[in-house]
Amino acid sequence: MRGTNGGPARGDPHTLVVGGGSVGLLTAVECVRAGQHVTVLERGPLPHPGSSSHDRHRVMRALHPHDAGATRAAVTAHGLWRELESLLDARFLYRTGVLTALPAGETASAAAGLTRAGLPAQVLAPRQLAETYGHLAFPAGFGAVLEEDTGVLLADRVLGAAVRWLGAQPRARLLPHTTVTAVDAAARAVTVEDGRTLRGDRVLLATGAWSRALLPPALAGRLTVHRQTMVYCDPPPRERERWRGTPAVPASGIPWGAWLVPPVAGTPLKLSTDAFRRVVAEPGAPEPDQTPAGDLASRFTELVPGLRPEWVVGTRDCHYVTDGTSGGALLADLGGGAVLAHCACGGGAFKFAPLTARTLASRFGGVPPAPTGLRPLDHPVAAGPGDPATTPTTQETTRDRLQRQNVPQHRGGA
Ligand SMILES: Cc1cc2nc3c(=O)[nH]c(=O)nc-3n(C[C@H](O)[C@H](O)[C@H](O)COP(=O)(O)OP(=O)(O)OC[C@H]3O[C@@H](n4cnc5c(N)ncnc54)[C@H](O)[C@@H]3O)c2cc1C
Repeated sequence: MRGTNGGPARGDPHTLVVGGGSVGLLTAVECVRAGQHVTVLERGPLPHPGSSSHDRHRVMRALHPHDAGATRAAVTAHGLWRELESLLDARFLYRTGVLTALPAGETASAAAGLTRAGLPAQVLAPRQLAETYGHLAFPAGFGAVLEEDTGVLLADRVLGAAVRWLGAQPRARLLPHTTVTAVDAAARAVTVEDGRTLRGDRVLLATGAWSRALLPPALAGRLTVHRQTMVYCDPPPRERERWRGTPAVPASGIPWGAWLVPPVAGTPLKLSTDAFRRVVAEPGAPEPDQTPAGDLASRFTELVPGLRPEWVVGTRDCHYVTDGTSGGALLADLGGGAVLAHCACGGGAFKFAPLTARTLASRFGGVPPAPTGLRPLDHPVAAGPGDPATTPTTQETTRDRLQRQNVPQHRGGA
């Protein structure tokens, strides 16, 4: 039911979601399913190709060696992705399998940990690994754990499906090209660039790498923005058969952290490494010295010996933040459980998004969420009104800060 201004009718719980990436959109889906009215405010189009979530693919791996909590959380998230495919009536999880290379002596216990968490795992000894995946090279003495049930998420399809589903729900309102410039946690309200104020019963900030602009300074100061370059390749037709059946390799064992996502369902082969990550002042910060794509790709011949420069079809920079305290994501409670800010980090935040969404929607519904195994999600940083961390920024407005950090203020800015 709608009120006269096109917003939710009086009396219905209403959640404002700022940010239309994976976390914002999937939380909006969960809130609608829980009976709430939801308004999604996104500075760009919906979905937004400039968001960190909008890529051809993301890896859905379950095994996190030495982190039983994250492994458990990923197994739960894997089940939630299957449910989402059915709810959103779209296919986006491709079961390519995921290979985690480890020193041979560590593979058995890692595989046992994954099996305990609920997914089957196969151990590959070094020789078996080399024989099975002859087009890849792993360090001497490394075996691997193969997860057969997980694989690759077609990320842009996920966002498109969520937007379509929300667009068909009477309880959901999508506001693309709407930049939020200020948040008043005490009033559970946000101000948008044309000066309008929208109030809700709950507010979620899910603004990814752009989060610092909307957070109180004490929280914003905990966040570091990272930029990482990904290289996309199109193997020639004679190589394609080899790549069919190649699992995602989020951990190759190569000391500089090379990883790859195989070409699946028409997507390119993607290569990257933590070595291509650098700290930037904000996502829009210019960089004078960009390394040519061919030079970046040439490093990966250590993992893919047959890789040729002519395979390279493009590169893309993507951003995420890390919380200086947890080293990973940040969930902050800005106002008595009714105003939350989730700042996703790199690596696995996409795959955890359905679990994050369910947890946030539970919190908004006043239901204590089940522990996920992800510490930042299970232990939000409490910062209520009056806490220095949430003192409203009076002298420097959020709009000022957005401008100083060069966040596009115009419609459709990316
Ligand atoms: C190189 C790289 C590889 C990765 N690989 C993987 C992987 O394989 N598997 C995995 O699980 N995760 C991976 N991740 C992490 C994951 O993709 C991201 O952390 C996750 O998608 C972030 O989702 P989000 O919804 O929090 O943020 P985003 O997707 O960035 O969404 C935030 C949205 O908020 C909007 N916004 C910002 N400010 C405002 C404002 N003021 N008003 C209105 N809207 C605003 C933005 O336009 C954007 O659309 C990777 C990350 C990087 C950088």
